[in-house]
Amino acid sequence: MYDFIVIGAGISGTSFAYKASKFAKTLLIESQDYQREIPVRTNIFAEHNKPFVDDVFWNDDSIFPRPFLQLNYKSEKHNGLLHSKEFGAPLGKISHTEILIQKIIDKFRDQGGTTLFNQTVSKVVRHSDHIEVINNKGESFTSKLLVLATGSRGFPLQKSLGFQTPDSFMGIYTNIYADESLLEENFSFQYMFHLNPTISQNGPFFFNVGKGRIAAGYLGNKENPAELKDKLFRILKNYQKIQPFLKGITWDESIPTISGGISKHPINSFSKDRVIVLGEAAGLVTAFFYEGILCGLASADIATKLLKPLLANDSNFTRVELKKYDDEVARVLFTYFRNGNACEYLFYNESSSTKTLWDSYTNLLNTNKTVREYVYEAHINQDLSTHNTDNDRWVGERLFATIPVFSKMTLWPKFLKAMSF
Ligand SMILES: Cc1cc2nc3c(=O)[nH]c(=O)nc-3n(C[C@H](O)[C@H](O)[C@H](O)COP(=O)(O)OP(=O)(O)OC[C@H]3O[C@@H](n4cnc5c(N)ncnc54)[C@H](O)[C@@H]3O)c2cc1C
Repeated sequence: MYDFIVIGAGISGTSFAYKASKFAKTLLIESQDYQREIPVRTNIFAEHNKPFVDDVFWNDDSIFPRPFLQLNYKSEKHNGLLHSKEFGAPLGKISHTEILIQKIIDKFRDQGGTTLFNQTVSKVVRHSDHIEVINNKGESFTSKLLVLATGSRGFPLQKSLGFQTPDSFMGIYTNIYADESLLEENFSFQYMFHLNPTISQNGPFFFNVGKGRIAAGYLGNKENPAELKDKLFRILKNYQKIQPFLKGITWDESIPTISGGISKHPINSFSKDRVIVLGEAAGLVTAFFYEGILCGLASADIATKLLKPLLANDSNFTRVELKKYDDEVARVLFTYFRNGNACEYLFYNESSSTKTLWDSYTNLLNTNKTVREYVYEAHINQDLSTHNTDNDRWVGERLFATIPVFSKMTLWPKFLKAMSF
């Protein structure tokens, strides 16, 4: 019998398994064939993720090969730039996340953890004194507690256990490799977040610029994978606003693309007797900016801290005891979530106003130092429960002041509501 079985070896499941294996007998099950390859991911890793990552990983340059120095919140009219040197330390790091996941798994195994890759959990049975997990080969494993870290790919399992599933949209990205010096020349920033409702009404087109490679993609539609891919290639080939960044970089339509669900909006409860849900499966991804890594790391950290004493006291892991996990996730993350919720409501809900608002916002970022300072602070704040929502409201007021008069008349109720989030 295991103490914990973790289903899903994304950032949430691996970081939980690694921390839990310091005090518990832990099994990590993943349906993808990680023995062969962990899919390449280049991500933005804001400084506010740091409290949830052990120094042995945080200080590893092969995982984080570049600092995150400058962001570009790009509109059709402006490159809205924020360079960290204006305020001090970098905004964070750029993560070659497949290396992070590999190294976390290596340490998990060093600490006695067991992994099963290329195995899908097809059924879970809850007994009163343990949990039984059955894989696609019909093998069964037992545990005192089950940790669901299945992202947006385990909804049937999640539903079978009586959990809600979060809102889910589709996204796509591809990895483009290029000489470092060429990337240096083309990209003055490491992250571009670009809103254009013709591309997506629910999310950005983005570039995450790593070392020798970039991730390019967009988030937030409901199309099927073939449509997503076709559109991504059309954007990369024809969209004038991004062509300067791709100058001299060669790619063709044979490059692999990765499409899949991206979830957001937390479900109402993250625990039941002997089961907890981590990360994206619980809808723990910030609305608007889609920061899922932060939430995966934070929920894993909170869960291990709560479970350690419960395991030591031979707990039955009842819902009443596990509810403290729900409460702590809410305490740590949900103040910060209000910013994303307000931005989502303001920028995504009604596509006709998105361009006007996003143009004005990116111009404001360029022209107003306090706005830049508040965005910087949100990136580097090491305790997001203290995120200052007054700053967000202040930016909202400035934004309203700068939008064209004709937009003010129609948009003021929207602003009033967003300010109340
Ligand atoms: C295109 C794109 C770009 C993004 N960029 C960023 C970014 O730059 N910064 C950021 O913070 N966030 C980003 N995000 C969001 C972030 O990557 C995710 O929210 C986060 O990685 C989710 O981690 P997770 O561990 O909760 O889930 P996942 O990474 O989805 O892991 C879940 C795992 O569970 C496995 N699984 C599911 N069901 C089963 C089963 N039944 N049996 C066995 N295994 C199972 C899956 O195979 C999967 O590996 C991005 C998302 C997308 C789609």
